[in-house]
Amino acid sequence: MPSIGRIFIALALAAAWLGSSRAVDPPKDLPKYDIGVKLDTGKRLATVHQTTTWTNRSDRPTKQLLMNFYPHYQIPDGDFFLLAKTLELLRQNPNDGIDRKGRHGEIREIAWANPRGEKQRLRYSFNEENASALTIDLAEDVQPGQSVTIELDCTIRLPQKQGRWGQWNGITFLTFALPTLAYHDGSGWHAMPFVPWHQPFWNEAAHYRVTIDLPEDQKLACSATVGSIAKRDGWITHTMKPFVGRDFAILASADYVEHKRAAKMPDGRTVELRCLAYQRHAHYAEEMLILAEEALAQYSKWFGPYPYDHFTIAESYFGWNGNECAGLVMIDERVFDMPKLARGYVEYLISHEICHQWWYNLVGTNGYAETVMDEGPATYFTHKYLDQKRGKNNDFVAWPAEAWFAPHIRRENYRFGSMYGAIRRNEMYPAAGALPEYGNLFNLFTGAYDRGAKFFGMIDDRLGEAGSLEFFRGVVAKYSFRVLSAKAFQREFEEYTGKKADEFFNRYLYQRGMTDWSVDKVTIDGRRGPAVGRKRGDPLAGDGQEYRVEIIAKQQGEYDEPTTIGFRFAGEPGFPIRIPIGPTTRTLKLPEYEAVIEPDGPSRSRITITLPRKPVDVVIDPDRILLDANPGDNAWDRTPNLTITPLYTFLNETDLTADYDRWNLTAGPWIWGASYQDPWYTRSTMLGVRAGAFRTQTFLGGLYAAYRTDTRDVVAGVDATLMRWPWAKTQVGVNYERRIAGPFFDNQGRDAAQRASIYGRYIIQEGISLYLPPISYAEVYSTYQDNFLPTPRERAPGAERYRSTWLSGIHFRTNLYTPYWDPERGVWVDFTYAGGVARLNETVTTHQVRGELATAQKLPDGLGYFSDTRLAGRVVVASSWPDRGEFFSLGGSTMYRGFDLRERQGSTLWLANAEARIPILRESRYNVLDSFLGVRNIWMAAFYDVGDIYANGQSVRGVAHAVGLGVRVDTAIFSFIERATLRLDVAKTVNADSGVQVWFGVQHPF
Ligand SMILES: [Zn+2]
Repeated sequence: MPSIGRIFIALALAAAWLGSSRAVDPPKDLPKYDIGVKLDTGKRLATVHQTTTWTNRSDRPTKQLLMNFYPHYQIPDGDFFLLAKTLELLRQNPNDGIDRKGRHGEIREIAWANPRGEKQRLRYSFNEENASALTIDLAEDVQPGQSVTIELDCTIRLPQKQGRWGQWNGITFLTFALPTLAYHDGSGWHAMPFVPWHQPFWNEAAHYRVTIDLPEDQKLACSATVGSIAKRDGWITHTMKPFVGRDFAILASADYVEHKRAAKMPDGRTVELRCLAYQRHAHYAEEMLILAEEALAQYSKWFGPYPYDHFTIAESYFGWNGNECAGLVMIDERVFDMPKLARGYVEYLISHEICHQWWYNLVGTNGYAETVMDEGPATYFTHKYLDQKRGKNNDFVAWPAEAWFAPHIRRENYRFGSMYGAIRRNEMYPAAGALPEYGNLFNLFTGAYDRGAKFFGMIDDRLGEAGSLEFFRGVVAKYSFRVLSAKAFQREFEEYTGKKADEFFNRYLYQRGMTDWSVDKVTIDGRRGPAVGRKRGDPLAGDGQEYRVEIIAKQQGEYDEPTTIGFRFAGEPGFPIRIPIGPTTRTLKLPEYEAVIEPDGPSRSRITITLPRKPVDVVIDPDRILLDANPGDNAWDRTPNLTITPLYTFLNETDLTADYDRWNLTAGPWIWGASYQDPWYTRSTMLGVRAGAFRTQTFLGGLYAAYRTDTRDVVAGVDATLMRWPWAKTQVGVNYERRIAGPFFDNQGRDAAQRASIYGRYIIQEGISLYLPPISYAEVYSTYQDNFLPTPRERAPGAERYRSTWLSGIHFRTNLYTPYWDPERGVWVDFTYAGGVARLNETVTTHQVRGELATAQKLPDGLGYFSDTRLAGRVVVASSWPDRGEFFSLGGSTMYRGFDLRERQGSTLWLANAEARIPILRESRYNVLDSFLGVRNIWMAAFYDVGDIYANGQSVRGVAHAVGLGVRVDTAIFSFIERATLRLDVAKTVNADSGVQVWFGVQHPF
């Protein structure tokens, strides 16, 4: 159905400022908590006495109370891997955040004062399936409208782990840890299970009266403000002012330095902002206060006044970058540690977390089953706010002028790169769903956050600027200190628009519906491309020029979603002329610009319009409102993003740094290194020049000329990877290299000249690193290569050097090392078989097989210093036929480290490595280059390599034993954008006279 008339031609509707209104008063019948907390930071113990009053607002009596007591949670055995992978995704060492023990919360007593004023103990139990759900049996029914008050005593031990409750590097945190009533309605209690990788919280806001006892050296950050303090015996009792919020967060540290700022709100009120952070983080502490003031003011205009006269930012450790609490946000230590020039990212993060003061705290949600109801609006409105404040697609990193060539991390690429990756992989989840349905954080991000933000954007767009403001303000006012479900939200939307919206909600919120518009053809005055306009109409109007523009638009997605088509003109910002378009079955005439929209075959429309100036671009859905499967073809102008750089690295070819909706062409001096081994051949570290093309999740390729450091020659080469081709889980890649100069420095093996490979890969399990291959994959390949191995020093009698091989093979790899940059534990399996022909002295049939098994394991907790030590081991077996061929080298950077490639070669080898990685420096904060690069951990590696290689049926000089020492530096790139381990190994074979070998590399050798 054409629904064009419904769309607003909202060109310049001024944002109606609806005037200030008072914050909504919290309802009286919310739960009431009177809490005394003694937080013994030295003993890492919180002792809590809590009086809870609950009013039954449903129409049925109940004889039970259900509370969530999350510290009673224990990670189920089967969830360790998922949780480790979640922390890895956040570039966090899993062991720092995974608390295997759990059960830190203990209930001491729950009691009730009966009508005679006698204290009576109550029975309570924890649910077996949902270990954090505490059921309390009351002595009597609580009738509708009646209240009940209970007293609860509990303790919470604070593990030395990062997370919501615990202690780390002198910061103690107690957030989402106090016993809190579950959500209750006519159908009873809803205590949702704890999900450690997100915010599964579903509860009412509550009235809090809290006193906090802290050792007197501790500085306090919490949801409420201090009313009075009293000192006694080395302790300070903080009596907090009454507070109404969704939760009550408490953080404390002796190392906190307090920063303050008085923030002016649009209604004239002053909000006192505080930021508690380490001394060394004063820069961002001050910056965050400025950013917080700006964001609080803007959201107050949009959604109604910020409900408090105070707001706190607390530095903490919890793996995530930021996390909302009532009246407070926690910002991870690693964010404070970011380069100063990454202020754009910090601004984005702070603005998002502050948006949750409305969409989480004020308007509550079912965080377990409807994460989208707070993450959707928080994500969407943060981007809308930054679009207005910074312009679309601003850079997260403000590189100084002299670093103009550095890769950009632009906001829209950050926002949409991963979502379009999920779409290309057919792994887009619905926006609304319960946390377990997403399975992991990545799916939750692309579904509830990214897709959810699109859904709220479509609502914003449908309502128009003024309508949207009125609608969302109305929703916030009505649901302040209440809980908003998706169903209730739909009801509100339908009431506001006066139309049913089932279809819209089903398509875009509950299902995976997409649309896919494209601009197929644009002609101006009957000619394609640049054309001179002809005179029309009144010669006195303007310059008298008019242009008749015809556009063929296509919609081939699942759903026809109406949108607008925008026209851009030289020298003018944005799209000053827009007309609504939608699929149509009849000719529509619009009064504006003599526009005519008519059907033009299946799913195509022809739009003709008379414009006063010649457009330089025509774009469908210019504001990127829709869930459009391929936004790259929505524009007429598809000019690639062209970069000439003095330093071309892999960072120019990632989803994060490239434009997601167009081709990215890059050229310049190039440096490249292999971060992993390929079964056909592993490409050398190269220095040279490259011209490359990249398209997010679609293509990566280029032409290059470079010096190869391993074979010490200069090659010309080409590489290309077709990602997600021909299917979502497959890719095809090619590489060809031909020597054009060298080898230099007396390197042996002059007969080698060229090599080529082609492979088809099936991805079993995707990875998350910017530089590593998938976690698990299988591939078929074909490769030709001349022998690039140096001529061996030592040879077995009868062994023959091959001149070239032409092989076809299969390869399988699974790498479960976690975290991938510096594994605490995991297994690695690799298997290859290939067959083909080899040119020895004559051409022969050859078969080659290679298997590898490796493991790394951290020593258990509780061994003090030694707990951090990791043991790693590996075996490699490779064999080929005919056995006189010297197809393999025993030595190498990631093989037997006591020999170089030249030392021993043969047709069959076995190899075993054992390595202890012993901590020298842990948790370092050492940063260089404005925190662009940081050292986090340094390990000393002590290793033993043993192996033998055979040719023509006999060992080449027997089993070789090598010992060595190495240094591993675990580095953080851009604080937490990427992690990598740099390696230096020195090895010496003890039973051969082969010299000391020195190896550099990225990542551990196995
Ligand atoms: Zn959020």
